[in-house]
Amino acid sequence: MTSHPAHRHSHTEAMLTVEEALERILSFFEPLEPARMPIAEAGGMVISEDVVSHLDVPPLDNSAMDGYAVASQSVSSAAPHAPATLRVIDKLAAGDLPTTPVGPGTAIRIMTGAPVPRGADAVVPFEDTDEVERRLKARTLDEISVRHPAGPGSNVRQAGRDLARGQTVLRRGTVIGPSQVGLLASLGHATVSVHRRPVVAILSTGDELVEPGLPLPEGRIYDSNGAGIAAAVMEAGGTPRQVGTARDDLESVNAKIDEGIDSDMLITSAGVSKGDFDMVKDVLTRRGSMQFWSVRMRPAKPLAFGLLSASDGSGRTVPHLGLPGNPVSALVAFEQFGRLAIAKMLGRDPAMRPRVRAVLTDPIHNTDGRRVYARAVVTKRDGRYYASLTGDQSSNLLTSMAAANGLAICPEDLELKQAGDEVDVLMLRWPPEVF
Ligand code: AMP
Ligand code: MG
Repeated sequence: MTSHPAHRHSHTEAMLTVEEALERILSFFEPLEPARMPIAEAGGMVISEDVVSHLDVPPLDNSAMDGYAVASQSVSSAAPHAPATLRVIDKLAAGDLPTTPVGPGTAIRIMTGAPVPRGADAVVPFEDTDEVERRLKARTLDEISVRHPAGPGSNVRQAGRDLARGQTVLRRGTVIGPSQVGLLASLGHATVSVHRRPVVAILSTGDELVEPGLPLPEGRIYDSNGAGIAAAVMEAGGTPRQVGTARDDLESVNAKIDEGIDSDMLITSAGVSKGDFDMVKDVLTRRGSMQFWSVRMRPAKPLAFGLLSASDGSGRTVPHLGLPGNPVSALVAFEQFGRLAIAKMLGRDPAMRPRVRAVLTDPIHNTDGRRVYARAVVTKRDGRYYASLTGDQSSNLLTSMAAANGLAICPEDLELKQAGDEVDVLMLRWPPEVF
């Protein structure tokens, strides 16, 4: 045993809580430098500088209704039995510029969004006039009878009411959604400055692995972590770059790390367990300032983190997150650490997923003082959430992860959560539909 290379180096091994591990990891990441993006592609990204309006939106007072622009005084005593009849002197559609002013006793037919002409301070909607009757009787529309008064300002949208020139419209740090994209567009911006998406290189290690799409030799298994983690990276807002699989030998791991070095984070899976018969730990230790941790969580106790250096002498480094090999452990560890590192690089508040309090329908056993993240299905009945475990919680069973919509948590200091107890559930899917 002592002859194995993994034991020749004194790896730093520490027992950490989830929070301690997360804090150490996040300290290596900052929001990435700003980049301009087409606004329609910027959804979910974070604005890196305040956006100030250089326009009034809308640019002019305009009509909120289809109707007649009038001086409110002309219709102040209008009533169904005593309508005010006005001469219609012009018409205005959205996009027109008014030329004729409105005076006492006159009106201009106006469509929604058209600028309100000079002299008018109100818009009378069609339904408060006799326009329909006039049309039915095929009478001309050069006159209109108004049946209800319209006070000053009624149905008039003020210039600059949505966005006023000089106003800060969006603050840096704002997460862009459809309405923010719309605001940027209404200011005429085609692009917006955001923290760019991190490129995350993903490498699977293990002699047993075969890439999906290739034939499967006897005794081998397909690499499920590579694609699974890539999908998780994408869901977290990163750009995944799969570099494939490396065999458990120095040369192979080294070459693959070089392929992934030009990224914002390198995620590997497998080869980080204590006493692992793997070269991975060795390679990592030689190439950077790696730390090997035991995190007080189940699954995903072994974790590696550090900075790896390029082998070309360029001095470039990349933060490296080494996830455990078992597929469920890899995804749960990505959830706790990788996802939040990506959020930080995007400039997002690295907030966790939504949590609900749910009533357990199965017990969760905690045998060794770790925080248990149990795969669970959350459903809602009679206004309460219930969490049922998805069966065998072994960390190699990806089916039980695929069946879950959340991770029910048993704290590290509790030996048992019984059926009927309340638990916190970290929701992987929200709303918690069952997939
Ligand atoms: P290791 O950390 O290398 O000891 O791997 C732990 C377990 O996870 C072993 O059963 C591996 O076969 C399995 N494993 C490691 N990497 C992958 C992968 N990329 N896809 C599927 N299973 C894996
Ligand atoms: Mg292995």
